[in-house]
Amino acid sequence: MITSTASVLPAPTARIEAFLAAESPETPFLVVDLDVVRDRYLRLEAALPNTELFYAVKANPAPEILELLVGHGCRFDVASPGEIDMALTAGADPSQLSYGNTMKKHRDIAYAIDRGVRYFSFDAAEELDKIIDVVATRRASVEPAEVVAFCRILCDGAGSDWPLSRKFGCDVDQAVELLVRASEAGLGLGVCFHVGSQQRNPHAWDAALEVVAEQLCAPLAAAGHRLDALNIGGGFPGSYINDVPTPEEYGSVILAAVRKFFGDEPPRLIAEPGRYLVADAGVIQTEVVLVARKSIHDQHRWVYLDIGLFGGLAECLGEAIKYPIATPYVATSPTGPVVLAGPTCDSADVLYEEHQYRLPMALVAGDRIELLSTGAYTTTYSAVAFNGFPPLASYYLPLSAD
Ligand SMILES: *Cc1c(COP(=O)(O)O)cnc(C)c1O
Repeated sequence: MITSTASVLPAPTARIEAFLAAESPETPFLVVDLDVVRDRYLRLEAALPNTELFYAVKANPAPEILELLVGHGCRFDVASPGEIDMALTAGADPSQLSYGNTMKKHRDIAYAIDRGVRYFSFDAAEELDKIIDVVATRRASVEPAEVVAFCRILCDGAGSDWPLSRKFGCDVDQAVELLVRASEAGLGLGVCFHVGSQQRNPHAWDAALEVVAEQLCAPLAAAGHRLDALNIGGGFPGSYINDVPTPEEYGSVILAAVRKFFGDEPPRLIAEPGRYLVADAGVIQTEVVLVARKSIHDQHRWVYLDIGLFGGLAECLGEAIKYPIATPYVATSPTGPVVLAGPTCDSADVLYEEHQYRLPMALVAGDRIELLSTGAYTTTYSAVAFNGFPPLASYYLPLSAD
């Protein structure tokens, strides 16, 4: 049975079902169906025509995923020298990488430039200065105009389940000032923003695009500077317990807003999907370690799994992301409310308490259950060995030949 309120229930793919039936690796583990990653990429590419897709590597940096995406012409959003190396090892062209982290050490910017990376994000004067400085010290090998400096503007993340607000971006007035400075240093100009991860409202992009067009591009143009690229970030959703719009809806709403605010000749458009490309491709199988009640009067049971916040489910913090859960019991078996918790000796390691999942009354220690749509932001969030639990293992089902 599957616990979900979505009208279309997510389900493991037939290939994942077959893997789970045939293999029985020790839990917990993630299994990813690469066919789904490919299908998602092609679908989003079609839904966002004339938009370059840069996969946000942090969502799931498995070499199998990066290589598959390289093969389809995908580009990459990277956040560190480590992610640059992973993308290059998978065969990515360095000029197709965007160093999108707004907090970079001077020496890491130099590392990126020396490897051929040309797109950099910033949201502060000091960060822009680092970029200008590194480029200036490499005049022999890099033309400043080849480098595009993307100023990230603030977005409140309203409508998203995992907002990326406050910490990233600056207001538009500061952005205009910084971009003028970037332009005077000879760099190409870009703007980027992120409307929040798992953004369930396709209209969330409208306000940001309007602000960029009217309060940023207009004053820049008046001062004689032109925006080369517009990066609309990520935020495209995975299928968790709530229904979400289709990628086609996102594409048509966003591109309509781009036309409305930028006319027929917008800057180069870039999007950075992370979650959408990989979330629904993955399933985590976990084992029930203990089913307990705290008192004989307890209405709900505590169900402890062998994976928790520190084993890869960090997005359960604040119960932000609610994964559909499948159990081996038939849909008609009686259920009751549970608190779901992880296996570590940390009281923060509770997954869902506010949101009451209902699981079968028959559930016992040793049962294996599946957390669906867990292909994004799980392996990368897994701690190295908190309490001696190993990092989340993962398996990648190769593309089927067709
Ligand atoms: C994480 C991240 C993304 C991906 O966001 P999703 O919501 O997973 O699509 C895109 N751009 C930047 C700069 C990011 O940090």
